[in-house]
Amino acid sequence: MLRAWASEFFTIFWVVLVTVIAGRIIDDFGFAMWIGTALYLVHHLVHANRLYVWMRGGRSGRIPAGTGIWEEIYYLIHKLRRRNKRRKKQLIRMLEQFRTATSALPDATVVLGARDEIDWFNESACRLLGLRKSDLGQNIGNLVRYPKFAEHLKHSRHSATVSIPSPADEALQLEIRIVPYGEDSRLLIAQDVTQLRFMERVRSDFVANVSHELRTPLTVLRGYMETLTEGGQDLPASSYKKMVQRMVEQTSRMQSLVDNLLSLTRLESGPPKPATVVQVPLLLDRLCKEANLVEAPEHAPVRLVLDSQVSLLGNETDLHSAFANLISNAVKYSRPSDTVTVRWSQEEAGGVRLDVEDTGPGIPKEHLPRLTERFYRVEIEGCRSKSGTGLGLAIVKHVMSRHDAELFIASELGRGSRFTCVFPPSRVVAGSDASRPNFPM
Ligand code: ADP
Repeated sequence: MLRAWASEFFTIFWVVLVTVIAGRIIDDFGFAMWIGTALYLVHHLVHANRLYVWMRGGRSGRIPAGTGIWEEIYYLIHKLRRRNKRRKKQLIRMLEQFRTATSALPDATVVLGARDEIDWFNESACRLLGLRKSDLGQNIGNLVRYPKFAEHLKHSRHSATVSIPSPADEALQLEIRIVPYGEDSRLLIAQDVTQLRFMERVRSDFVANVSHELRTPLTVLRGYMETLTEGGQDLPASSYKKMVQRMVEQTSRMQSLVDNLLSLTRLESGPPKPATVVQVPLLLDRLCKEANLVEAPEHAPVRLVLDSQVSLLGNETDLHSAFANLISNAVKYSRPSDTVTVRWSQEEAGGVRLDVEDTGPGIPKEHLPRLTERFYRVEIEGCRSKSGTGLGLAIVKHVMSRHDAELFIASELGRGSRFTCVFPPSRVVAGSDASRPNFPM
């Protein structure tokens, strides 16, 4: 800076000196002064013009050559421009990052102006609120037309939220919060709470189902116990025995409900269990023999067909529970005149499958997709027993998914049902391979 002024004063000094000498030579000091001042002025005008041309040229113009104070002025402007350019780039980058971050936000975010007009929105707002680019500047109340939302828009408070279905898809449930910020802007945040609401419903349904399932046997037990306490000693021995027998039945019903619930919880959220080689043909043989022994001869006979001798890599307890459920269902829901066939065979693609087929009453088609839901039961006319907990097939489904297997259900009313478990080749262990190491499932 000082150097620039020094050079400028040096120029002035030379102009004055030359003017004085010229004044002496021509003997007209006033005229020489006038010429000297005019030249100095022209020098400044030339530089001012260079500055003007440079500024008009925008970013592309090169820094003009200058002398004295002008050199310093050009340099300072050039520095300022460079700093601004860098700052602009930084701002653009930040804006880009902000845009990417808000686009990645799963929640819809909308910036509302003073009159609730839309100033900006992110990508999730297109999906959740059905907003389009052409909606910019429109009043949000005209686009999201729910009375509850309109009310909330008028009187929103920081902490309050409102739940409405998504205007883009009625199946989605949104929770909306409107937060004021800045002078008179507001931020609308809409969160997709469909899954949350579903889980809440599942939880309350689950509690209602468990209470309902326990209430029936408890009421029966209580009734018998009251009868016994109020004069049980006067009852004939046969009635007494029958009562105790019913009480035992109800207690074992509650017991199996609790056992099944614990198994399900363990399967749904328990840690992975080590897998061992499970000799399925032996397991099925044992299960079929047990099924034929229990309650015989009042139920359909169970026939075992072993088309394959391969074993499975899996958890024996879980597989036992799943296969036992399928076989006992087939027996439970069939008439004594029906037959149950259990078949273990290999798939063409290298996997292996278990079919549990019965010639029982079958299941109406509309129930098939929901059979594996917890507590889902179908009332079928002519069924021998309806004493299930509705948890058996849910357990089977979970055991299958833990073994990378799939469960298929086919049924026709009046003709019977077939439950098929298909295991992938990675789970199959051929006879000679039965010593494969354990691995977590
Ligand atoms: P449950 O303990 O009631 O047997 P499941 O989850 O095992 O519960 O079965 C759900 C429903 O599926 C049963 O209530 C029954 O109506 C139907 N079901 C299951 N297996 C059969 C079958 N082999 N034949 C006819 N219906 C069946």
